[in-house]
Amino acid sequence: MPARNSGKKLSIVVPCYNEQESILVFYTKLDRFLKKKVFNRTAMEFIFINDGSEDNSLDIIREIAGTDRRVKYISFSRNFGKESAIYAGLEKSSGYYTAIMDVDLQDPIELLEEMFVLLDDDKTDCVAARRISRRGEPFFRSVLASLFYTIINKISRLKIAAGARDFRIMKRPMVDAILSLPEYNRFSKGLFSWIGFSVKWISYENVGRQKGNSKWSFRDLIFYSIDGIAAFSEVPLAFAAFMGIGMSFLAVGGIIFIVIRKILFGDPVSGWPSLAVIICFSGGLQLLCLGIIGQYLAKTYLETKKRPKYLIKEQNC
Ligand code: UDP
Ligand code: MG
Repeated sequence: MPARNSGKKLSIVVPCYNEQESILVFYTKLDRFLKKKVFNRTAMEFIFINDGSEDNSLDIIREIAGTDRRVKYISFSRNFGKESAIYAGLEKSSGYYTAIMDVDLQDPIELLEEMFVLLDDDKTDCVAARRISRRGEPFFRSVLASLFYTIINKISRLKIAAGARDFRIMKRPMVDAILSLPEYNRFSKGLFSWIGFSVKWISYENVGRQKGNSKWSFRDLIFYSIDGIAAFSEVPLAFAAFMGIGMSFLAVGGIIFIVIRKILFGDPVSGWPSLAVIICFSGGLQLLCLGIIGQYLAKTYLETKKRPKYLIKEQNC
């Protein structure tokens, strides 16, 4: 196996939220796997981010850190979300190579070897994983997720590969590029695509979560989708404006029609139900457009406050 990329440090960033059942299993498997020959001369660092877990995750991480000096951890003061956890991990990572992995074993550890080998090439800045199936995931969630990625690829300049995960190994310049984007509302899959660099993809079959439950409720996923769209597309705002123009033309047409009808046929007092429907429809559209503008305004408001993306309560690094 080529050894050009060995000798440089590999940091592995692992966000954890209420993962007491998974952390030790993940660490043990990872530790065993990284004894493989390809990683022989690679220095390692594991950065666990405890994202405000309410269970025993932090105790388990502390215990592991006590036995293995390569293990670093950061513990947030509350749950700030996976995006903030990834950002914090990237900020702390000191390796030339940095990997991001879920702790629930849904990102197959075995892929690390192939990813690492593929990175041993000057032209490649990142090797990322994508699922070619969503087997084992609730049907409704898969359909909505596919719909979301189709929409965001259409209405923004981003191209997010179908099934793309946060699971990837990046070289330092790419990590620095991600860290240079200071926004508060972070949608990592969009940011990874926005910064460019050359990314190689490897595909794998979806692996179901081994322990515990997904930390994303349906509501979280909806808000995450809105965040993604608001962060990378202005098309909804244009949609609001075009709807306004369209409705205005329709109204002018309606006025002309009514005036001509009055001149030709007099003024029969009929048609109030259709009038009521039209009022409801245009009222609804106005609220929809206000809502769209409101979403962008809310995001702008949060950005202007410049609040930190996370707050640390405890760390060993
Ligand atoms: N996670 C986190 N903070 C959160 C939610 C999730 O750090 O607020 C972590 C979680 O512990 C896991 C990873 O992000 O390591 C992916 O979460 P999950 O498995 O719930 O997402 P899914 O795989 O269902 O998309
Ligand atoms: Mg998962």
